[in-house]
Amino acid sequence: MKKSYLFPTYNKFPLTLVRGHQTTLWDDEGKAYLDFMTGLAVCNLGHTPERVKERIQEQLDRLWHVSNLFHNPAQEELAEKLVTVSCADLVFFCNSGAEANEAAIKCARRYHQRVLKNDRYEIITFEQSFHGRTMATLTATGQEKVKDGYYPLPEGFIHARFNDIESVKSMITQKTAAVMLELVQGESGVHPAESKFVLELAELCKTKGILLIVDEVQTGIGRTGSMFAYEHYGIEPDIITLAKGLASGLPIGAMMGKEKLREAFSVGSHASTFGGSPLPMAAGLATIQMLLEDDTVKRAKNAGIYALDKLKNDLKAYSIIREVRGIGLLIGIEFTEPVAPIIQRLHQNGLLVLSGGTYVIRFMPNLYVTYNEINQAIGILDQVLAELLVR
Ligand SMILES: *Cc1c(COP(=O)(O)O)cnc(C)c1O
Repeated sequence: MKKSYLFPTYNKFPLTLVRGHQTTLWDDEGKAYLDFMTGLAVCNLGHTPERVKERIQEQLDRLWHVSNLFHNPAQEELAEKLVTVSCADLVFFCNSGAEANEAAIKCARRYHQRVLKNDRYEIITFEQSFHGRTMATLTATGQEKVKDGYYPLPEGFIHARFNDIESVKSMITQKTAAVMLELVQGESGVHPAESKFVLELAELCKTKGILLIVDEVQTGIGRTGSMFAYEHYGIEPDIITLAKGLASGLPIGAMMGKEKLREAFSVGSHASTFGGSPLPMAAGLATIQMLLEDDTVKRAKNAGIYALDKLKNDLKAYSIIREVRGIGLLIGIEFTEPVAPIIQRLHQNGLLVLSGGTYVIRFMPNLYVTYNEINQAIGILDQVLAELLVR
């Protein structure tokens, strides 16, 4: 192996992908793969979607960067679009999921401390959650592995048990500013929140004056078969964070909030040099337009139902599969043993998937995936499992 000049933060698959189109990726030897990981729920429209590409190319010819000290019509346009398709009223743009969550944490604390003039600062998050890798968001994350070696951590984060309303109640104090959660815990293995729990949590937050932050970095932008996962639960969060799928692969993040939060983020209270840059804004706008125009989200919902049923049905003979679960095209296949060796075999057989925790394979194709591609992917999975069991 050639010497690398990169910090060794990633355990890389032995593959170099050089080209992508829709659901197909090609490596540097010309071998084709079915992409059922979409980056990491990033390329929700498939690879190099034509209309997004055209929009980026158009912007590429005009202007690459403009400071946030000037007006930026594309930013206004994408913000308006996001407000139209969500329950939020205001948007702050940044460059990643962690930054969007960082903005949410800052906005929540400042709302209490500067608008309501109380001294609340504590954020309740959940065990097994994932919110990012900055100091605040790794502290918010409910998994020890992301904190190892980074102490001391910022103050004011505690972790309740997921899907356990009593656990949340027992942690609420005069200091509680917000509750932050993923409606489907993605990184830790595709665990959807229970409907009753989410409704009780939303009500609890409302009565106690606590902000409800929903981290839709992975679940947003059509991934779960609705534009945002919160729609499945019939709630209206105070803050929603987005990133992964929002610009079809260009770096972007967004923190969206209710009107009452406007003065929490008053002039000078938060900023980002690259946040809202013309290229990701162009990509974001074209992405949302494609989602709306083609009824893409509804298609994804139906494809998700089809895939979930077929996975359950075709793989039911394998006792090493413990459960298949998910919403829309965010599906998890839980095994009774670690999935890393299975994933390696799937890659060799031309199906790119990703783990979620140690025991779960995440099945996350793009939202335009065809039933034929779903059949092919499940066929490869079936074949690999059959081979593994014979040995
Ligand atoms: C990926 C992810 C993040 C972090 O996003 P980055 O862009 O890697 O900073 C935060 N929250 C959730 C739910 C995620 O899936």
